[in-house]
Amino acid sequence: MALRDFFIALSENQLLNSAAQKYGLRMGAQSVVAGTSIPEVVQTIKELNRANISCTVDNLGEFVFEKSAATAAKNNILAVIQAIHDEQLDAHISLKPSQLGQDIDIDFCYENLKEVVALAHQYNIFVNFDMENYGRLHSSFDLLDKLHKEYNNVGTVIQAYFFESDENIEKYKDFRLRIVKGAYKEAEEVAYQSKADIDRNYLKLIEYHLLHGKFTSIATHDHNVINLVKQFVKQHNIPNDKFEFQMLYGFRKDMQLDLAHEGYNFCTYLPFGNDWYGYFMRRLAERPQNLALVTKQVFNKKTNTAIGLGVVAFALGRLSKKSK
Ligand SMILES: Cc1cc2nc3c(=O)[nH]c(=O)nc-3n(C[C@H](O)[C@H](O)[C@H](O)COP(=O)(O)OP(=O)(O)OC[C@H]3O[C@@H](n4cnc5c(N)ncnc54)[C@H](O)[C@@H]3O)c2cc1C
Repeated sequence: MALRDFFIALSENQLLNSAAQKYGLRMGAQSVVAGTSIPEVVQTIKELNRANISCTVDNLGEFVFEKSAATAAKNNILAVIQAIHDEQLDAHISLKPSQLGQDIDIDFCYENLKEVVALAHQYNIFVNFDMENYGRLHSSFDLLDKLHKEYNNVGTVIQAYFFESDENIEKYKDFRLRIVKGAYKEAEEVAYQSKADIDRNYLKLIEYHLLHGKFTSIATHDHNVINLVKQFVKQHNIPNDKFEFQMLYGFRKDMQLDLAHEGYNFCTYLPFGNDWYGYFMRRLAERPQNLALVTKQVFNKKTNTAIGLGVVAFALGRLSKKSK
């Protein structure tokens, strides 16, 4: 089993997710998650804003199967919006529709999203719908379409590994879009599998939206892509206020600061909350070198060891299943 598949499988394990939640930030997650409370995240936004970096805030949450959990998540997001407004922060919201009830009841999810988008709209704050796995793709676009009829402060993500991203980039060209390579494990019937194909499509989509779209967030840690985008905007006279670079909190910090210093709009994706486990495992899937974050921390505390052992046990379970 490839390391990437292994970590993606871990990210989808509900048992380990619940165990991790009980223990607060562990295993190195604290270097990529901006705390567990709103005051902590506000503090981090203020620091980044001082360095000319704007933020998109993600209240972490996965495996939401109860309406009460979705309502709690919605209330947290509303509180973040209120804090952004009260503190006059340079920040907006990123959310996953699944956290607000997409897998429970689509009308209930829509009402939750509407409440969030309406408050953000009142304060002129943008709300981005993050995109998850293929199974949720079409219902996420449907929710976005419905909300966009009433509100213009919404946008979404185009994942370059999907074949249908070519259609979607055209369909949503009048939206503010974040363009990414794609973080989930997807079937070869719907998505490119090789890095070369994904990278090629990624650049094509970025260039299309830079030329024809409303506003482009180029969300990547890939310096090659960033350098090519810098050349492209220069060649095509695309002004800096038409695009921004985005990276995840804790990754390539020097490059984040450098891009902001060079005068590019830069936005850091800031996840916070107790539900860090799935997010963290996907980061390990993308780049196993990020394991350095874990190995530095995993064996120095009892709770880390417990979660670490869970991970190892799960891995052995998967491997023995495969060999049967
Ligand atoms: C702000 C943001 C929001 C995102 N939102 C979504 C979303 O809604 N849905 C979704 O599916 N995915 C999302 N993603 C994840 C995305 O789809 C990719 O899985 C992830 O960004 C990894 O791809 P990459 O473009 O960063 O580069 P990769 O293909 O991972 O890396 C390319 C090259 O860049 C260099 N590199 C990468 N990372 C580092 C590092 N940390 N240090 C040094 N060198 C490095 C290496 O040379 C590497 O070979 C998001 C990513 C970001 C940054």
